[in-house]
Amino acid sequence: MGRVPDDVVNQLREGSPIEDVIGEYIPLRKAGSTFKALCPFHDEKTPSFNVNPRMGIFKCFGCGVGGDAIKFLMQHEGLNFREALQNLANRQGVDLSRYETEDGETSLPSVREKIHEVNLFAARYYWVSLRGGEGSRALSYIKRRDISADAVEAFRIGYAPARWDALCQAARQKGYSPQDMVEAGLAIQREDGSGFYDRFRDRVMFPILGADGAIVGFGGRSLPDSDARHATAKYINSPDTPAFRKGRVLYGFSQGRETIRSKKRAVVTEGYFDVIALWQSGIQNAVAPLGTALTAEHLRTLRAHAEELIFVFDSDQAGQAASERAGGMAGRILGLAGAPDQLVAGEVLRENYIDRRGLGAIRLKVMDLPRGQDVDDVLKAGGADSVRRLLGEAEGLLEHTVRKAIEGVAPGADQSEKLSAVQNLMPVLGASHQSVRDQYFSLLEDRLGIPYPALAESVRRMLAEEAREPTCRVEPAADLLGRSVDRPRLEVDAVRMLLVRPDLAGGAEVDPSIFADPAVREIVAAIIEAGGEDIHPAGLAERLTDPSARALVLDLAAGETPADDLEGEFSDCMARIQEKVRRRREEKLIKEIEDVSRSEGNDSPAVRRLLEEKNALLRERQKTSSAQ
Ligand SMILES: [Zn+2]
Repeated sequence: MGRVPDDVVNQLREGSPIEDVIGEYIPLRKAGSTFKALCPFHDEKTPSFNVNPRMGIFKCFGCGVGGDAIKFLMQHEGLNFREALQNLANRQGVDLSRYETEDGETSLPSVREKIHEVNLFAARYYWVSLRGGEGSRALSYIKRRDISADAVEAFRIGYAPARWDALCQAARQKGYSPQDMVEAGLAIQREDGSGFYDRFRDRVMFPILGADGAIVGFGGRSLPDSDARHATAKYINSPDTPAFRKGRVLYGFSQGRETIRSKKRAVVTEGYFDVIALWQSGIQNAVAPLGTALTAEHLRTLRAHAEELIFVFDSDQAGQAASERAGGMAGRILGLAGAPDQLVAGEVLRENYIDRRGLGAIRLKVMDLPRGQDVDDVLKAGGADSVRRLLGEAEGLLEHTVRKAIEGVAPGADQSEKLSAVQNLMPVLGASHQSVRDQYFSLLEDRLGIPYPALAESVRRMLAEEAREPTCRVEPAADLLGRSVDRPRLEVDAVRMLLVRPDLAGGAEVDPSIFADPAVREIVAAIIEAGGEDIHPAGLAERLTDPSARALVLDLAAGETPADDLEGEFSDCMARIQEKVRRRREEKLIKEIEDVSRSEGNDSPAVRRLLEEKNALLRERQKTSSAQ
């Protein structure tokens, strides 16, 4: 890592307000002197993620992740330290390039940057290939799919030629090694070790962009008349690489983010073509997962920008199952906390609210496509307006899944058939608020004649099974070590004030040794060592060796910040700490005097010395109490 001097790091840290940096990824809500949010690093229903703008610190009191803006970018975007610094430098127009060349090894770009670069090269190659002679079949396929020239441009669609090593050869000429190509997921080594071949051949290529617009991977669609040797599957994606995790990236998100933010709504479709078709018809807030189910990470990304998610699914069975899965998961992640108060039983079916406890409700809806049609068919038949109308008519997720389940029950079905037909409702209902669940149970009892207790038992069983499944958690941060420790309140208060006003440590001539808590002692010593200069809590934490001391600094910095005029409060706090120290010493002396008198006699020199010490302590205490 090119060593960037501490003062430049500090300058970058201070140059971008932390609430702006984090606010780009998750919605923050002002609460006193801090901001609160749902933690992007673990699933939660009540916000325990704090951002303190004054201190430049974030901290999740749920999972323990915390630090400065640099740390946030590292954790949230998966960047290394250098990349996170670069991100801040880009925002501030600071040039870091001269630091890169200071030591040889670190002038190399990171693995991720290298993959971005190789991918960019590949995207250009595919782009040119689409327009060359080899690309004519692909070009006419794209035209047949009614993809406009604008969309081809905006989504940087290209073509991978129908040869075994077209890209590998072009890469070699550009100076990229086969290893570079393998690392980016673009080439595969032959099993006999005799060379490398292109992963994508004879395919329409869709570059996949990360949140920052870099090309992180590709999706490739075979042509209808593709040679079977090249077209092994209709769709293939880049494998996961250090730059690309399928479970995290959404196709179209980079292009649609601004629209999603302004409309506060995202349309979740099933594939590249849906996203593109909607985009070119003016519906530019569509995204698609990449050949996987929607993951918790996808949903966290979306909930950060949207208040309403509309899932678009084909009317076939697979799409149906997908919507139920999505619903169950969304419910769990977002905290499906209930319907609006005033709804009566029949009306609950109309809306699904997920109350984000003070962060605004998020609605989950399902747009049903007409049977046998896909998004493209609807667009062709009725244009964007017909899609808009269907989006407008989208049903609440609960309403949708319950309706489908009821429709799925054949007339004359017996009780066990009915029960199995409503089984796939259980994840959604299990994630719902008890009162919502009750109303649906009544409805199912009413319509299908399934007794309420049987339904309740199904949900109970499902929830019990789920509780046994290990849930994915952020690895416990070292920060957590300090959380259970019971620290002296006064000492913690002193640190909290010193973080805002480090100069007070000098003024009050604080001696760290008077603090009983070792973590507090180390923090105060570090503050004094910095000579009262304003030190960023993240920088301060880095100087500490005790992990629980580091955690304490972040905890305090992320919480409410005390007002600036702290002189009186601080000296009061210190006086009380001093008083405690004196009292402890006094108690210890009294005990010692008792012990020594017993063994050496009341009038021994040792006892007299101890008594003298105790009197000195008493005089000191009288002096300070009369001075106050
Ligand atoms: Zn958390």
